[in-house]
Amino acid sequence: MNRFAVLQLSGCAGCEVSLLNADAWVDRYKLVYMPLVISAYDVPEVDVLLVSGGVRNDEDLYNLRRAVRHAGQVVAVGTCAISGGVASLGDRDAVRELFIAEEGRRHVPRLLPRCHPIDAFVEVDRYLPGCPPTPELFMAILFDLPDFKPSRIVCQECGRKKLKDMRPGHLLGFQRGEVLPDVCLINQGYLCIGSSTRGGCRAPCPRAGHPCVGCRGPSDALIEKESSAWFESIGRVFATLTDVPPEEVEAGLRSPQLALFLFQFSDYADASGVGSRDGHPRPKEKVL
Ligand code: SF4
Ligand code: SF4
Repeated sequence: MNRFAVLQLSGCAGCEVSLLNADAWVDRYKLVYMPLVISAYDVPEVDVLLVSGGVRNDEDLYNLRRAVRHAGQVVAVGTCAISGGVASLGDRDAVRELFIAEEGRRHVPRLLPRCHPIDAFVEVDRYLPGCPPTPELFMAILFDLPDFKPSRIVCQECGRKKLKDMRPGHLLGFQRGEVLPDVCLINQGYLCIGSSTRGGCRAPCPRAGHPCVGCRGPSDALIEKESSAWFESIGRVFATLTDVPPEEVEAGLRSPQLALFLFQFSDYADASGVGSRDGHPRPKEKVL
């Protein structure tokens, strides 16, 4: 059976959803790699490599160059892979001029110089952090469910046990190798930040063996503090459970894998880093 892979670069995953909606290939092709639905660390050797999304950053470029080495055929799929797609419009001077300058096209939005959170401009009543928030969290905020009480931190929802006598000397990185059930991922050398992350999600990631990357943001204990308090808090947890050198932990925390969510841990207290919020902190009482 022919084998194929889907490499997803910067795009929206619409191509992948379309492919999954078409099932005619199921009997003739074996799908061996597609991060949206199949866990695999590398693109294996394949007959056909479908590439969706554009090359927007150096990781895209690295992944693309690596993946094509083992592919019989490379197929550029969709607008983003072929011409950059929506994400590239801001890069194209001619398109920008067209969008920004044409007076008659009032339905075309003008680009702001940078992206802002909404509370840079309007008063927000509640905050629902998560990437994405789980369906249960949506229900809780919409219907103000009286019996829904998020745990203080993700660890309380995780169910894995922290052990004092299983002390890794170094970090393993993200999602590498076998993961023991029931044992805290930190004891197994993974950089899990559930101990400082607010609960409420029911810990789907560590329960499944993937370190929590903190998408729910800071716990109430850290929400009004500077990011240094967060670094110290994680450092204490690692010092208690591991022999990993503190500088290795700190380097891991500052790695690209955590970059997407890391900034949240100081956003609530320190408005200067987030758009133009002009010093309005986000009170923890408003955060679910
Ligand atoms: S650190 Fe991670 S794996 Fe360990 S108990 Fe907390 S959430 Fe679970
Ligand atoms: S990354 Fe952490 S906070 Fe986000 S859903 Fe997973 S376990 Fe919950």
